[in-house]
Amino acid sequence: MANPLYDRLFGVHAGKSTPFLKLPDGEVMTHQAFLGTGAQLAHVMTGLGLQPGDRVAVQVEKSAEALALYAACVQAGLVFLPLNTAYTVDELRYFIENSGASLIVCSDKSKDQMVAVGESLGAKVETLNGDGSGNLMAQAKAMPDTFPTVAREADDLAAFLYTSGTTGRSKGAMLTQNNLLSNAETLVKEWRFTSDDVLLHALPIFHTHGLFVATNIILASGSSMIFLPKFDLDEIIAYLPEATTMMGVPTFYTRLLDDARFTKDLASHMRLFVSGSAPLLAETHVQFEERTGHRILERYGMTETNMNTSNPYDGERRAGTVGFPLPGVELKVTDPDSGKTLPDGEVGQIEVRGPNVFKGYWQMPEKTAAELREDGFFITGDLGKIDEDGYVHIVGRNKDLIISGGYNIYPKEIELVLDEQPGVVESAVIGVPHPDFGETVVGVLVPQKDRAPDFDAIMEAVGQSLARFKHPRKLVLLDELPRNTMGKVQKNILREQYKDLFA
Ligand code: ATP
Ligand code: MG
Repeated sequence: MANPLYDRLFGVHAGKSTPFLKLPDGEVMTHQAFLGTGAQLAHVMTGLGLQPGDRVAVQVEKSAEALALYAACVQAGLVFLPLNTAYTVDELRYFIENSGASLIVCSDKSKDQMVAVGESLGAKVETLNGDGSGNLMAQAKAMPDTFPTVAREADDLAAFLYTSGTTGRSKGAMLTQNNLLSNAETLVKEWRFTSDDVLLHALPIFHTHGLFVATNIILASGSSMIFLPKFDLDEIIAYLPEATTMMGVPTFYTRLLDDARFTKDLASHMRLFVSGSAPLLAETHVQFEERTGHRILERYGMTETNMNTSNPYDGERRAGTVGFPLPGVELKVTDPDSGKTLPDGEVGQIEVRGPNVFKGYWQMPEKTAAELREDGFFITGDLGKIDEDGYVHIVGRNKDLIISGGYNIYPKEIELVLDEQPGVVESAVIGVPHPDFGETVVGVLVPQKDRAPDFDAIMEAVGQSLARFKHPRKLVLLDELPRNTMGKVQKNILREQYKDLFA
């Protein structure tokens, strides 16, 4: 009897006193201690009556115990369902109802409200706080530290992960054991992880990046991670000397670059910096190399597929691109209307197929059928192209495409020009309703604090680089772009905010 994901990621470390987590209080949690906690938690959950296949909804602060809940779910054949800590109780109700979770794990702080939700939806509630306290661990500590691993097939569900909700309501992606395992094994090889590595981990563990990309790679390679509750610049700078690698969202890197303590010396011993979850500006890539000599390795993935492409470990990491399809992953660019594959260089919808691609959206058969083709290709919702050297470029989301007077306009092309203008920190280009053109282009600019952008000069620069139909009809200033907790710009909010500009 086997449980491929548990056996390969967790079980291999049984009995080992090798370090797994280095915690902020200086404590080092060994592989065995981690597995022991996982086993104890598995006993608590099965003792509550949970059966293989049941969903466990978890909204807790990042901690070693919270991560051990993931191990516990895999070992007991339960489906792990982590939820963003920023979600309110109302939002959680949707996820819990939608997923049919049997158990909710939350902090003591939200317990009363969650008990009310749990009662109405038939779910039990247990608590786990950021410091490991709460009634879940109190029960776990009395349990044996080994657990008979429940047999699972490669195609059985291991986790439910809700998408970030950048383009609309979050969808529950059903991920199998093999989706997670195949991707972890591929990435270990591609990014050359070995047991000598120490990853600086400051990402949340309710999202695919911090949970599956980071944690599964560290488990699969037998390496360790410095496990920080969140991204705190002082802590990152303090711990960097002890790390060999770091994974981050683009804002981690821009924030490091904004700090004078982040020097070439501080980064010189590092082996690898990885970026993903949102586009890394080519300019950030260049500045990072100028400062540290390191070329950030940018990769591309999503909740539904884990990782699809990566810049090469050896060879040129090309700024502004997400590299090549990973081994075992097929990627094509197709015409959204006909579904036909487009020649290299042309922009279309990105489709991917491989062992990493999810089983479908939970209880959304129509959406699943519309996006997951019968031949296994998943229509990602991202637009992009493949350049003459095979590098994949993401130009934006299908939903953000602007169609003005019958022309397709890709916001990123315009944003690249706007971002370069004096006085502009960053920009977001959106389409808003227009009586003649259907939609027209609006450029939302975040101005530098001490230097207001000159709209006339900007429009002149735009006029030199872009065809007339792509020119913003209006530029507006905004102190800050709306971002969700993963740092992604929420263009749907901007479109709503500016929808009446031409009405
Ligand atoms: P929702 O699907 O609910 O709207 P979301 O797509 O933001 O939310 P995630 O699965 O967290 O939810 O994010 C995946 C998306 O993030 C990808 O489809 C892509 O648009 C974007 N992304 C990830 N990595 C990169 C990257 N390196 N460059 C550009 N975009 C990226
Ligand atoms: Mg998405």
